[in-house]
Amino acid sequence: MSIRIEQEKCVGCGQCTEVCPGSLIELNSTGKAYMRYPRDCWGCVSCVKECSFGAIEFFLGADIGGIGSKMHVEKKKSYMYWRITTPDGEVKTICIDTQKSNAY
Ligand code: SF4
Ligand code: SF4
Repeated sequence: MSIRIEQEKCVGCGQCTEVCPGSLIELNSTGKAYMRYPRDCWGCVSCVKECSFGAIEFFLGADIGGIGSKMHVEKKKSYMYWRITTPDGEVKTICIDTQKSNAY
């Protein structure tokens, strides 16, 4: 599984269920998102980008040097902050201005 949904942060907005191209995410009976078919996730990060509540974490693969690291997104206005947390607790941030996406 490439992602983990933190139940305590999920507000049940349903955005991740809309964007997953494989329809792998659903809301459970308590209104929280969960992975229906974790093994089928191919890590496209659409759900991670869509979650405005930082409730979805993406595990970075060893092939890109991400052993044990995970990433989630925080959004403020047009900015997306990709927070990468390493196993020792260090947090690195990549800031993207979505209104200037052609600049990247
Ligand atoms: S987008 Fe985030 S907050 Fe909304 S249902 Fe999915 S995990 Fe929960
Ligand atoms: S990473 Fe992509 S394939 Fe996996 S659950 Fe999220 S949207 Fe679906």
